[in-house]
Amino acid sequence: MNAGLCDRCRHQRIVRNTRGGVFSMCERSRTDERYPKYPRLPVEHCAGYERRPVSASR
Ligand code: SF4
Repeated sequence: MNAGLCDRCRHQRIVRNTRGGVFSMCERSRTDERYPKYPRLPVEHCAGYERRPVSASR
């Protein structure tokens, strides 16, 4: 999956469904309605992007 900016963003959460699908979810959508829960990928520009700390795991 190529989620663009989301792949490097601390607000991304990877979600797997029971059929093996993998989705990039935006956790900003919980608190800010401007962000879709499942943005169209790859995201190239996003005002909410914040770089994920290198050591953080998913
Ligand atoms: S804030 Fe933007 S870049 Fe970060 S996960 Fe959400 S949509 Fe992607």
